[in-house]
Amino acid sequence: MLLKEKLILTRTSLQCRECKKDYDTAFKYVCDECFGPLDVKYNFPKITKDTFSNREHTYWRYFELLPIENRSNIVSIGAGMTPLIKADNLGKKLGLNNLYIKNDSVNPTFSFKDRPAGVAISKAKEFGLSSVGCASTGNLASATAAHAAKAGLPCHVFAPSDIEMAKIAQALSYGANYIAVDGTYDDANRIAAQIGDSKGMGIVNINMRSHYVEGSKTFAFEVAEQLDWQVPDQVIVPVGSGAMLNAICKGFEELGTVSLLDNVSNMHIIAAQPHGCAPIVDAFKKNSKEVIPVENPDTVAKSLAIGDPGDGRYVLKRLAQYSGFAEECNNKEILDAILLLAHTEGIFTEPAGGVSISVLQKMVEQGKIDKNDKVVCYVTGNGLKATESIMEVLEKPKVMKADIAEISAVVN
Ligand SMILES: *Cc1c(COP(=O)(O)O)cnc(C)c1O
Ligand SMILES: [Zn+2]
Repeated sequence: MLLKEKLILTRTSLQCRECKKDYDTAFKYVCDECFGPLDVKYNFPKITKDTFSNREHTYWRYFELLPIENRSNIVSIGAGMTPLIKADNLGKKLGLNNLYIKNDSVNPTFSFKDRPAGVAISKAKEFGLSSVGCASTGNLASATAAHAAKAGLPCHVFAPSDIEMAKIAQALSYGANYIAVDGTYDDANRIAAQIGDSKGMGIVNINMRSHYVEGSKTFAFEVAEQLDWQVPDQVIVPVGSGAMLNAICKGFEELGTVSLLDNVSNMHIIAAQPHGCAPIVDAFKKNSKEVIPVENPDTVAKSLAIGDPGDGRYVLKRLAQYSGFAEECNNKEILDAILLLAHTEGIFTEPAGGVSISVLQKMVEQGKIDKNDKVVCYVTGNGLKATESIMEVLEKPKVMKADIAEISAVVN
């Protein structure tokens, strides 16, 4: 059995999520038999808590749990090991005694996308690909472009033309070829998929998706380590394509497999989506297993505006597996939640983070979270990337003459 032997020689193989057929790791992402997505499967070495304790403060500290064969292929811009903040002020407001915010707004490109993009670009280097790209709702463009710059690879990003200016400026500055598509994310995604296939380009979230999603597992690894190897009771995750939510679950489960965590199955997962693009919430509330795409997403949370979520079905499965919930919130609730988090914890997030906080609030109000639960709310992107929308609910400062008497009168 040549295939079996080879599987043992490398650290990883690929396995179809649907029919479980095994494949050697390769530049490949769908099953030949059933077109199911391929996931990375590991031959884990022996791992203890000490394996990681004295390593670098990036997500590459979990190298044994990531799909890169050779450390020399790692492309790192220092992402990961972001703060897990004990949010006592916000917790008090909401009536929660053990609330934590995983603050990924402080990654190098200011969103969690540095996790999957960094792993995918490292894998592109390992595969010897000569160019990379992505389809993006905004943040992935910058994360991919920054890591491609570090790797010295040309990068092509495909995104809707109406995303936030800061995100465009950022990706362009890293040197990406920025294709602003007059259409939705799903249009950009379809074009990127075809160009990736025809030009042999590594599109990180499409033809490299099997490896890409592995990076987001580090969101689970870090939280587990930061909680001193405890499983949270409740995890709140903002959902676009659903890849991150699925990867967070896989991450916690793998820590169970290598015996670093107990009772992973006691965890509850909550999926948060914006009204105007909440196809997974709709399916969940109808008790349906199929996600009906939203044709024209309309929400202030542009990074979650994915009408046809690639991993939507699997998010529904995860919610069933972990007795979870899915909930949505409207633009006003999102913007109010951004301000609530900023006012209480000093954390400034973009609308996707507002979606997490608003849904957290709703879950507490609906009695779905107990006041003593250990709750982890994922805040995935930085407010500086979306100032246009946030300014809509803020009062523009009035320009004043540089006059002490006049200014003194308005400072109390
Ligand atoms: C992409 C993105 C998400 C959603 O991630 P998916 O894997 O598409 O579900 C959430 N928050 C931010 C800030 C993002 O950029
Ligand atoms: Zn299959």
